Amino acid sequence: MKVCHIIQKNLFIHKILPLLGIFVVAIIFMVVICLQTSIVFSPSTDDSFCFLNESDNSISFVECLNFIYEVQLSKVPTVEKWATPIKIRYEGNPTKKDVDILNQIVRDFNKINGFPGMRIVDKDENVLLIYAPGEILPEIQNKYDMDKIDKGICRRFSDQGEIKQAIIVIESDIDQDYKNSVVLHEIFHMVGFYGHSYDNTSIINRIEEPVSKLSVLDTLSFRMLYNPEILIGMEYHEIDAYYRDRELDEFLK
Ligand SMILES: [Zn+2]
Repeated sequence: MKVCHIIQKNLFIHKILPLLGIFVVAIIFMVVICLQTSIVFSPSTDDSFCFLNESDNSISFVECLNFIYEVQLSKVPTVEKWATPIKIRYEGNPTKKDVDILNQIVRDFNKINGFPGMRIVDKDENVLLIYAPGEILPEIQNKYDMDKIDKGICRRFSDQGEIKQAIIVIESDIDQDYKNSVVLHEIFHMVGFYGHSYDNTSIINRIEEPVSKLSVLDTLSFRMLYNPEILIGMEYHEIDAYYRDRELDEFLK
């Protein structure tokens, strides 16, 4: 009996205990891997972040009217914007983060009152968004008869002031954060803000400083342009007259 007990004790110390140890280490290892995996693959979009910058009283209609003139109505004679839903189809080699960012821009832009809406589609698009590596940009440039592509470009097609189609090209192999800013910049051009601004906080600033979201001025100008009472074909003095008679606080309600 005693011998048997000693054998059992030795068996426990030399065989079972190491196996238990390996088992425990394996469990800890798996837990760590699972935790890391869930961190890596957790949704990268952040519900608390918004690409819009909620309008407040720090700016005025006049500043936004100047901005709208600077980036749109100094280039075209009358108001231009989308009147039908924007259907974006993307192709090329977007990263998972690119797709997340695009979805988040779509979600946030759809909060603008009067905006006809934007969604991502597989076919029947009116906006083609191409993610392409730098080496094939000259080829795309020729194919779509575009200016030289430097990180990103947007070409729009409008008919009597109504924007009906667009092509956006994004250089895919640049730094991800920079690329997010370029995508937002080009999509802001696409919705109707054609030119560039001397305001360096604007997403379409002239110095091409990467900005992570629309500025307060960008956002309020976006709301003002897509206000259902501002019609395609209006002249600058008509928009100016419309807003000069109104209170910003009332508009923001
Ligand atoms: Zn630009």
